[in-house]
Amino acid sequence: MSVRASALPPGSIVGILGGGQLGRMLALAAARLGLRAHIYAPEGDNPAFDVSHAHTAAAWDDEAALAAFAGAVDVITYEFENVPLATAAFLAERKPVRPGPRALEIAQDRWNEKRFAAELGIATPPFANIETADDLAAAAERVALPAVLKTRRFGYDGKGQVILRPGDDLAAAWEALGRAPCLLEGFVDFVCEASALLVRGAEGATIAFDVPRNEHEHHILRHSHVPSGLAAETERAAQDIARRLAGALDYVGVLAVELFVVRDADGAERLVFNEMAPRVHNSGHWTEAACVVSQFEAHVRAIAGWPLPKPARHHDCTMTNILGDEVNDWPALAAEDNAVLHLYGKRAAKPGRKMGHVTRLR
Ligand code: AMP
Repeated sequence: MSVRASALPPGSIVGILGGGQLGRMLALAAARLGLRAHIYAPEGDNPAFDVSHAHTAAAWDDEAALAAFAGAVDVITYEFENVPLATAAFLAERKPVRPGPRALEIAQDRWNEKRFAAELGIATPPFANIETADDLAAAAERVALPAVLKTRRFGYDGKGQVILRPGDDLAAAWEALGRAPCLLEGFVDFVCEASALLVRGAEGATIAFDVPRNEHEHHILRHSHVPSGLAAETERAAQDIARRLAGALDYVGVLAVELFVVRDADGAERLVFNEMAPRVHNSGHWTEAACVVSQFEAHVRAIAGWPLPKPARHHDCTMTNILGDEVNDWPALAAEDNAVLHLYGKRAAKPGRKMGHVTRLR
C-alpha cells in the first residue's frame, strides 16, 4: 500500500472540534504519527488541551476564532456530535471537514437518524415522531408500550429518556421532557448490546474492528467485551450495517453504530439499529490496548489520507469505564498486571462522569 500524494505529511495540523477525552485521545494518536493537534472548544474543563500542540477556547459561533482556527489547521474533525451545523458548514468552506457535516446533521437528531437507517433497509425498533400534542395519540398507536421516549436532540448516556410501561401517561412523560421534539421508540427486548466500529477512507475503502459486546449500567456504558461471543455471521452483519451507513454518507473516519442483539424464536441472532456516532466511540476504547492500530489512530489516518492497515487484535479484553469517584482508586488500578489504564485528567469527578477507563487483557 502506498501513501497517496494528498496524504497530510508528518508536521501537519489536525483541527479537532471538542475538548473532551475523545479529543484528548485523538490528539495523542495524532502526535504518535508526527501530526499535531489543534483543539477548538468552548471554555470549560477541556482535558484535550493538556496534550495538544495548540488550542482555541471560544464559542461555537465566534466566527473570527473559527476563521483563525481554519487558517491554522490542515484538516478538521470532531469528537463531539453536537457541534452546531452552522459551525461545521462555516469551517467546511475553509478547510476539509471529515467526516462531512451531513453525518453530523443525521446523528444530531434521533428522528433523522432512525429514518436514515430505516430508508437503507436497516432494522430499527418501531418509532414515531412527537412534536405536537396531536402526535401523541398517533405515536401510541404506532409504537406499543413498553416504549422509550427520547428527546430528538442532545440526549446522551440516558439523559433525556423515559421508559413508558403500559398504563403510564404518555402526555405526562412528554411534559416531563419539556415538550421537546421527541421520538417514541418501541422497547427492544435484547439479549445484549453490541457496536460496529468501522473506518472508511476518503476513497471509500473500509476496515472494521472486531465487534465488542457492550454492557450498560443506568444507560451509561460500563464494559465492552471482546470477543463478543456473538456468531461470526452476526458480527459481519453488524459491520455491514455500518458500511452501508458510511457509504450512504460518503463518510471519512471512524463511524460507530450501536446495535441491539435480539434472539428470534428459532435461536437466531438478529440486529436492531439503536444509534450511530459520527466519531470515535467509548465502545472502541479497548482498541488502544488490544489492537495494532487503535480507533483513534485509525480515525486520524483516515482523515489525513494515510493508509488504513487491517487493525489486527492481539488480545482478548474487557474495557471498563471509570466513573465519578472511582477515579480515586487509581493506585489500585495502576498496580494491576495486564491492565492498560487511561485517565483523562478531568478536574472534577461528578457522579457518573467518565474519568478514565481500564482495559484488562487476557
Ligand atoms: P441511547 O442513548 O439511545 O443509546 O440509549 C442508552 C441505553 O438505553 C441503550 O444503550 C440501551 O441500554 C437503553 N435503550 C435505549 N433505547 C432502548 C430501546 N428502544 N429498547 C431497550 N433499551 C433501550
